[in-house]
Amino acid sequence: MYSNSFNIKKITCLIAASIILVLTSCKDTSSTLSDVLVGDEVASRTGFYFDTVISISIFSLEKDGNYSFKERADKILDGCMQISDRYDKLLSAEKENSDIWNINNSNQKETVVSKDTFELIETSIKYANLSNGAFNPSLGSIISLWNFTSNDNQIIPDKKDIEKNIKHTDFCNVIVNKDKSSIIISDNDTKINLGAIAKGFIADKIKDYLCKEKVKSAIINLGGNVLLVGSKPNGSDFKVGIEKPFEGSSTYACVVNASDKSIVTSGVYERYFEKDDKIYHHILDPKTGYPVENSLYSVSIISDKSVDGDALSTACFVLGLDKGMELIEKTKGVEAVFITNDYKLHTSSGFPKIK
Ligand code: AMP
Ligand code: MG
Repeated sequence: MYSNSFNIKKITCLIAASIILVLTSCKDTSSTLSDVLVGDEVASRTGFYFDTVISISIFSLEKDGNYSFKERADKILDGCMQISDRYDKLLSAEKENSDIWNINNSNQKETVVSKDTFELIETSIKYANLSNGAFNPSLGSIISLWNFTSNDNQIIPDKKDIEKNIKHTDFCNVIVNKDKSSIIISDNDTKINLGAIAKGFIADKIKDYLCKEKVKSAIINLGGNVLLVGSKPNGSDFKVGIEKPFEGSSTYACVVNASDKSIVTSGVYERYFEKDDKIYHHILDPKTGYPVENSLYSVSIISDKSVDGDALSTACFVLGLDKGMELIEKTKGVEAVFITNDYKLHTSSGFPKIK
């Protein structure tokens, strides 16, 4: 599942040798790009999970016995890939016998799920409530009518199918029982899809693991969702570029300096297709079942936890500039930059100074 591209590089110079990690997978260009690094060593691994390219880079580790940096980092990166594989198999809506697949195919019977799945479903419902349903974890039946992941078969779904399925997307149909760690779907045609929040959740779990393994400096990049562990080895902030929509993955709208933060973007340009001069992108309006039509090209969220940034980036995109910004301003500990289709940047009140 992953390329065993472990490597150690001695990075000797400072400014000139900053490395730009660029990840792209088919049309799924990474929405945020991380410009690293000033240190002596780096160990990186890439893989393909959650329908996207992921990459984890470790720059600094606490010393442990006689093991070299390479030996320890290699083992830890193995662990990261195992965690990714486990969550991919647990949270995917498409993979047979995943927790989500089991719920969606339960015929309204109670389904016991893992603690992690339960936690994520609960968090999803929290954000569905917080955003008045703009972020909707039960859009599964509508999402599966569209195809934004491969270049084949990109057709606009039949209007009748959208109208039929949109009636079965109420997230209140997802009933949770914490004591039993179980889920019941009260409407058999309601299907869960956690694609708008799962990567953030998994990134947090990978970070917990890295911290437990005494990693001091690292970048977790799940298809453009970036989560920083610590700062650069020399103590300065990482620089994270926020992609300029439709301009390719190495052109930035702005660069954010940050340590220990999550930077997650939802953007129209990440997955879309064109038909008759119109762009059909992957962020859907739960009221209509069609791609959201508003003035936005992207929303990027800075937060401590990536699960919050992931849910909020999707929610704010659907809510639009004004209501989305309102939500950010009233939510503690998160900042956002909205990029409108005139390429203007709109930042929340505490957003770090833009470069
Ligand atoms: P993100 O890139 O995090 O904004 O997630 C977008 C993905 O989440 C899409 O590719 C869909 O699978 C799914 N999705 C689309 N619209 C919504 C929505 N309004 N609420 C929740 N999930 C959505
Ligand atoms: Mg999201």
